[in-house]
Amino acid sequence: MAPSHALRCCKRALNWIPVLFINLVVGWSYYAYVVELCVYTIHSNAERVSYLVILHISLTMFIWSYWKTIWSKPTSPSKAFCLPSAEKDRFEREDRAEVQQEILKKVAKTLPIYTRTAGGAVRYCDPCQVIKPDRCHHCSTCETCVLKMDHHCPWVNNCVGFSNYKFFILFLAYASLYCIVICTTVTQYFIKFWTKKLKDTHAKFHILFLFFVAALFFISIVSLLTYHLWLVGKNRTTIEAFRAAVFPNGPDKNGFSLGFSRNFCEVFGHRAEYWFVPVFSSLGDGHSFDTRLVHIDPEQAKSVLQPNEITLEENTDLPEPPAAHFRLNPKTTKHIFGLGRTRPFR
Ligand SMILES: [Zn+2]
Ligand SMILES: [Zn+2]
Repeated sequence: MAPSHALRCCKRALNWIPVLFINLVVGWSYYAYVVELCVYTIHSNAERVSYLVILHISLTMFIWSYWKTIWSKPTSPSKAFCLPSAEKDRFEREDRAEVQQEILKKVAKTLPIYTRTAGGAVRYCDPCQVIKPDRCHHCSTCETCVLKMDHHCPWVNNCVGFSNYKFFILFLAYASLYCIVICTTVTQYFIKFWTKKLKDTHAKFHILFLFFVAALFFISIVSLLTYHLWLVGKNRTTIEAFRAAVFPNGPDKNGFSLGFSRNFCEVFGHRAEYWFVPVFSSLGDGHSFDTRLVHIDPEQAKSVLQPNEITLEENTDLPEPPAAHFRLNPKTTKHIFGLGRTRPFR
């Protein structure tokens, strides 16, 4: 076995340590709650059964969404985003960066790409040899380009992106619920421990630690959950929150924001019965995204697009203010209203 291959295998194995840690903590909390609290400490059958039912419902949803976050393979750009063989040969033979950019721009014209690099260049991934779709980024840990990449999460040893962002949020929500269930039901026994009303058995130490561990995890998870719910409301990924996507009019943190309800539906889907279940219901294919421009309905758009270069600021009916100095030019902008997508400026 080559040393580099062995190193890579070692790194991959080490990456599972945080996941193993989470599993051990959850396994111990389950044992402490079911055996030490419900079996040894609680005497009322009704209380015991009701606690166990609530715990198992929250734990099932938590483990289900955690499992789906871990095992949902990150989606990579489709073959349509690879250079055609003739252009690829030219691109590889070419040393001049500006000529390479011309080749990329020519191919990008046929793709639903709207964003560019900070310098205005077409975003191209050298390791994957692919033109990056909007909101797609290369993950050095997964060694692939990931559609609508949010971040690489060591606690799930996976990239959080288009394929599993909804699962990740549900995982945080159900993990918080699991901690709340433990904290609220254990509190009275925790107080009994301090007032020395609990029998002096090993169970009391499990109950004490159960309360502290659940409270600590709850505080850290719920703050992360709050941040991600805010990002969903703004239609931003974590990467975009730190570095705004660059549109033809410049960087714009709100470029993909379509208003709260549409932003929410983009991640959770239109059908409310799927919102709380870790099954895939996000909208779109992860390759192209609506921008704020598609707020304009086709009738309004006609009037906006007719004369030369009319600014969107002039249209007071827009639900959300467009980016400053955003100008529509009928010669350079195409709207595909049937698909609800806005094509890039060329
Ligand atoms: Zn890549
Ligand atoms: Zn990754």
